[in-house]
Amino acid sequence: MKTLRLILGDQLNIQHSWFSQVDPDVTYVMMEIRAETDYVLHHAQKIIAIFAAMRAFKEKLISLGHQVIYYPIDNPDNQHDFEKNIRSLISQLGVTRLEMQYPDEVRVDEVFHNMAASLPIETNIVDSEHFITQRDEATKFFGTRKWLMESFYRHLRNKHQVLMANDKPVGGAWNFDKENRKAWRGKPPAPEDWRDTHDHHALWQSIQAQGVNSFGEASADDFRWPLNRDEALQQLDYFLNHVLMHFGDYQDAMSKHQSRMFHALISFSLNVKLISPMEVISRTEQIWKEQSLPLPAVEGFIRQILGWREYIRGYYWRHAKQLQQVNFFQHQQPLPKWFWTGNTKMACLNNCIQDSLKNAYAHHIQRLMVIGNFGLLAGINPQSLHEWYLGIYIDAFEWVEMPNTLGMSQFADGGMLASKPYVSSANYIDKMSDYCQGCHYHKNLKISDSDQAACPFNSLYWNFYMRHADKLQKNVRLSIVYQQIRKMDDAQKNSIQQQAQIYLDNLENL
Ligand SMILES: Cc1cc2nc3c(=O)[nH]c(=O)nc-3n(C[C@H](O)[C@H](O)[C@H](O)COP(=O)(O)OP(=O)(O)OC[C@H]3O[C@@H](n4cnc5c(N)ncnc54)[C@H](O)[C@@H]3O)c2cc1C
Ligand code: SF4
Repeated sequence: MKTLRLILGDQLNIQHSWFSQVDPDVTYVMMEIRAETDYVLHHAQKIIAIFAAMRAFKEKLISLGHQVIYYPIDNPDNQHDFEKNIRSLISQLGVTRLEMQYPDEVRVDEVFHNMAASLPIETNIVDSEHFITQRDEATKFFGTRKWLMESFYRHLRNKHQVLMANDKPVGGAWNFDKENRKAWRGKPPAPEDWRDTHDHHALWQSIQAQGVNSFGEASADDFRWPLNRDEALQQLDYFLNHVLMHFGDYQDAMSKHQSRMFHALISFSLNVKLISPMEVISRTEQIWKEQSLPLPAVEGFIRQILGWREYIRGYYWRHAKQLQQVNFFQHQQPLPKWFWTGNTKMACLNNCIQDSLKNAYAHHIQRLMVIGNFGLLAGINPQSLHEWYLGIYIDAFEWVEMPNTLGMSQFADGGMLASKPYVSSANYIDKMSDYCQGCHYHKNLKISDSDQAACPFNSLYWNFYMRHADKLQKNVRLSIVYQQIRKMDDAQKNSIQQQAQIYLDNLENL
């Protein structure tokens, strides 16, 4: 029996049991196809990073003795379609069986199922052996109960005995978030970028020569995303040994002087499966014990991976089909053009978007409390915003990006993921960053006066809650907001709404 095994660009898991022994009857196939570069407009670094890591993975497999067929993007035999390439190989090689690993996205799941139904050979799908939970584990865990990340996280801590002692959470609490909300004022110094650079100039030229559209800086000569598992592990270890100690304190902090802050930069390595979530957690626990690192930093970091990442995946497989349509607030504003340039007078958005264009990266609070916050307050169409997030970030794969954007950030699912919208006025952004200093807009003003323009976040914030009172005012977590609105007189409300409308009518020029 001649078996063909298909490896996708986000299935670069060399520890998968497939690769534990060399089998002369098995050939692996990997493809750089236009269907994958073009399903949304991608940041140049994302395309380069995935192809470069795929090529390195192919070399690794060959060095281990495996047989690999690789379709580079510019190979004339490449038909840029999984099924077409596989059909050619079936006839060329006399393949009798196709094996695949479960993909992480509904879109690719459907391609696989269609192939399995239509190909004239036996097919089999196996686990990707990456995640800590199964696709339906969160759905089974919650049953008819309200979904809550914290409950799933505690369940997984217990189940896998992570940060547990005698069946109790170490340190006597499950969560130390109250201690994790400091602003950063330049000290401790934020680390220099610890990642090695690569030169992917030739690869980038061949991608461009094929006419692939993209945006953002390619940085092909000075490229920092990891190519392979060894590099991914080195980068992780540097973070754990030198940076993690400050992760907790400053995980919500933002600065125009340092966009990465104390974050791990491992989402690309994790999402293409160069490293696994459980090994990140085990290494973190080990280093915590060896170096007596602060528990709030360690717990906060582990919660992102064991809690949020697995919970988001479970949520995706429960709601993915629905999410493709959701728009709870019926927001229809188009994405302002400056989302593609960062050219806005709002210093916070200018910084976060320009950093994203430069690095294909922004940390969680920049994505949630600056860009997403503005999107929701300005009534941007959530599905357009979803496509933008899916294209721009190095780690963006639908299973993780879509719930974060449509659920957590835009509340477009009506509150299935988040218990209240993540929005704020300038107050929060000013507290957690240095963006407001020197901004064209004044952080303390709701309404512009003859001297100064008011921060758009302020009027848009109150306007958002007034506009959507029918949908939100019964939410107990928003009772204080609506109490404050009830205390405003009509003149106050009118002037806020008028100011907000001026901004909404001029989104392109903010
Ligand atoms: C609107 C929006 C869109 C997002 N899109 C993506 C995306 O496409 N891909 C992606 O991996 N993450 C996404 N996130 C989550 C988070 O912002 C990134 O995982 C994180 O910024 C990656 O950087 P890091 O590795 O330095 O993370 P750190 O802050 O150092 O955290 C460590 C790891 O925890 C995991 N993690 C943390 N928060 C989340 C979360 N909310 N959901 C899932 N995993 C999490 C990631 O694997 C991350 O690498 C999004 C968040 C928002 C608000
Ligand atoms: S004043 Fe407003 S627009 Fe300017 S940086 Fe602060 S929050 Fe952003």
